[in-house]
Order: sequence, then structure tokens, then C-alpha cells
Amino acid sequence: MWQQRIKAAIEKQKRQDRYRSRIQCQSQDSTALIAVAGKSYLNFSSNDYLGLANDPNMIQIAISAAQKYGVGSGGSGHVTGYSEPLQKLESALANWLGYDAAIVYPSGFTANQAVIKLLIERDDHIIADRLSHASLLEAAMFSQGRLNRFKHNDIESLESYLKRAAARREEQSALDPESTALNLVITEGIFSMDGDTAPLTKIAALSKKYQSLLMVDDAHGIGLLGESGKGSCNQFGIKPDILIVTFGKAFGCSGAAVLVSHELAEYFVQFSRPLIYSTAIAPMQGAILLKAIDIIKGDLGERKRQILQENIRYFKEAINKVLVSVQDYLQMNNDHMNNNQMNNGDKEREAILPYLLHSESPIQPLIVGEDEMALKLSQRLQNAGIWVSAIRPPTVPPQTARLRITITAEHTFEMIDQFMVTLKTALISLNRDLNKNLKRNLNDNVHSKE
Ligand SMILES: *Cc1c(COP(=O)(O)O)cnc(C)c1O
Repeated sequence: MWQQRIKAAIEKQKRQDRYRSRIQCQSQDSTALIAVAGKSYLNFSSNDYLGLANDPNMIQIAISAAQKYGVGSGGSGHVTGYSEPLQKLESALANWLGYDAAIVYPSGFTANQAVIKLLIERDDHIIADRLSHASLLEAAMFSQGRLNRFKHNDIESLESYLKRAAARREEQSALDPESTALNLVITEGIFSMDGDTAPLTKIAALSKKYQSLLMVDDAHGIGLLGESGKGSCNQFGIKPDILIVTFGKAFGCSGAAVLVSHELAEYFVQFSRPLIYSTAIAPMQGAILLKAIDIIKGDLGERKRQILQENIRYFKEAINKVLVSVQDYLQMNNDHMNNNQMNNGDKEREAILPYLLHSESPIQPLIVGEDEMALKLSQRLQNAGIWVSAIRPPTVPPQTARLRITITAEHTFEMIDQFMVTLKTALISLNRDLNKNLKRNLNDNVHSKE
């Protein structure tokens, strides 16, 4: 019975500590706060890095745009939904980012799926960073082409796949001189789960050397990096064939755009089914996003980026101190334990000492390891008023369950201090409890031997 399949999958998810639930969040007037079930928390899990979701300018434009245009687009862009603000948004994006054209999709997930689905045909070859976002890898996996995933940010790994793809391409064109097969290299600007940066200059050079198309998903770089927030590619001085920007992060809204040449844009308008058969974004959303570009390009954006950078620097310094002091605590207690109970050598003492991945971005992952421990840590922080989500496999590789901490321009140093005090307490109490359990087990063992 098909119901068995559904039930078994859910049971397995629970057994593996991977059960996911959605939590209803109540509105707040700042991205640094979140309210759940009537209780308020400091929010260290938001992607609204610049705090634009609650910016008064954005709210004002939303109200006036709704009054002017209504709240819906009324149809696909190919019928009656291609509104004036949407058209203006596309040209503003293209101008700002230095492309011929931009095509707006309702979300980054859809945009990535749409690009790969449309572009990749049977003999094509996709070479994607192993840690690329689910929307990219899933589309690549289900595409008609072949997929290789190169080691994360590893140029040699990328080149070895590109070499193989080129050899294959040569064989193919020997058999079929008319072959139009392509290679597509995929990476992100800033990686969504690790917060680190792709070596874009080298990736672009390799893509060119092996005559491959390059697609960069800059969901987490746009609005934050480069000149006036133009993103990772601007920062590295490259121009990929296909640039994806999304509006759910620094833009504080939602939606996405694909930036391409005239030729590719025309191809998308002719053949991209998620564009043709889907309702266009509301005109008011177009107007809101136009305002977001204005803010991001302007003084306010610059100021917010500065505050964000200061917050990231402050946070990194503070958390490193916390981790060192927790390590000292563990060291002391470990010695103490070794002198007393632990000399029987029965079992290594388990300790939880997370580490911070190296990241310059607002995404600061604190790697815990075990799924269960990441959940417990997140739970303890929550009990003490800090909201930071645990991210578990399959979103991240096994044994790298983590707290995905995000810093925004809306946080204050005081908020970060409060988080750090809470984190230190939570880590020490978690270790103390583990220790208690372990002692209990050891005692049980001793008793059962007697
Ligand atoms: C968030 C994200 C997406 C999805 O964008 P949405 O607009 O939220 O659907 C795509 N790629 C990356 C790298 C992301 O982080």
C-alpha cells in the first residue's frame, strides 16, 4: 500500500533526528527579533541581512504601490502580467549589473530550475560545486545532461572534470561534427550553508579555457558585496554567462532574476515554461524591488553594509573567545575526570566543542557534528531567548550538523553579547549533562561487573 511508503519515510526521518517542522512566527518590527507562541527571541537565523524587510521606505512604497497597481498581476507575463514596474525592474537590474537583460522569476528556486531545465540537453555536461544549493543540484540531477560535482571550491577538482568533459566533447564532435553540446559550470558566490566564498576569478578563467558556460548563483552576495552591493562577481571582476540574483535575502523581499545576453534572454522568453505558464510577480512587488535596488545602491545601503561588516567582525571575535573558554572548561574537567573516575579506560569521555567555519560573510556556521547535539544546543539557546536554527543532513553533509548563525545589520553589539553569554552557558551545561550521563553509565557498568 502506498500509505506504508509515506509512513516509513516519516518514521525514518524521526529515527534519524531529521524530522523537520515549521514554526509559526509572529510579525516583528525588526529582523533581529522573532516571536513564537507569544514569546520574543533574538533572531540569529534571518537572511534579511540588511533589514530591508522592515525598512520604513520599503513599507511606504509597498503601500503606495498597492494603492496604485492593486495587489496582483492578473496573469502570466506572456498574457497581461508584464506590468510597468516589472519591466522597469528588469531593465534596472540589467543596467545595474551590466548585462543585456534580466528576466524575473517568482523565486530563486524556480529560476535555477528554469535555467537548467531549459538550457541542458542530452549530450550536455554540468559540472557543479558539490555544495551547490538544492535548487541547482536537483535541477541538474533531473536534467537530461550528465552531472559531475567537483570538490567544494577546489579548482583542481573542477579542472579535472573539465578536462574529461572536453575529451568527451572531442570524441563527440568526431562522430558528429554538427554537435552543439555544451558544458555548464555551476557555482555560488557565497555558499548558503558554509558562508564561504567561491574562487570566482579562477573558476571563470577555467570555464573560459575549456569553453564552458558559467552560471553563478549569487543569492547571498548580491546587495552585500562589490561596488554598491553589485555582488560577488563584481567583487571578483568577472561576468558569468548566467548570473542568478535572488530577492529573498539582502533585498528583504522575494523573487529572483536571471541575468543574461540578449540572445539567451530571447531564448528564455520563447521557451522557458516556468516563465510562460506562471503568474508574473505583482506590480507592487516590482515597485518594492525597484526601491530595494535604490536603497542598496545608495547611502543607506552603504551604511547598512558597513554596520553589517562591523557586526560580523564583532561576532567573530566574541564567539572565538567563547569557544576558547569552553575549551578551557572542558580541559579542566577532563583532567579532573581522568584523575578520578576515568582511569578504568572504559570509554572516552564525549564532549561537545563546536567550531566556527571560516567565513567573512553574514553566514557564520557553528559546526556541532551530531544531529542530536545540534538540536539540543539550538533548543537550549531557544529556552534562553536566542533563536538560531539547527541545520542537519541532508541539507549539509553527515556529521556536520550545525547552527547556521546569521548576522544582520539590525543586530546591536549588545544583542551579540547576550547571544554569546547564552551560548557559553548552553555549551557548558550541555557538556555537564553529557558528563553526568556518562558517569551514570560508568557506575552502572561497574555495578553490573560486580
Ligand atoms: C535561498 C537560495 C536560493 C533560493 O532562492 P529563493 O528565492 O528563496 O527560492 C537559491 N540559491 C541559493 C544559493 C540560495 O541561498
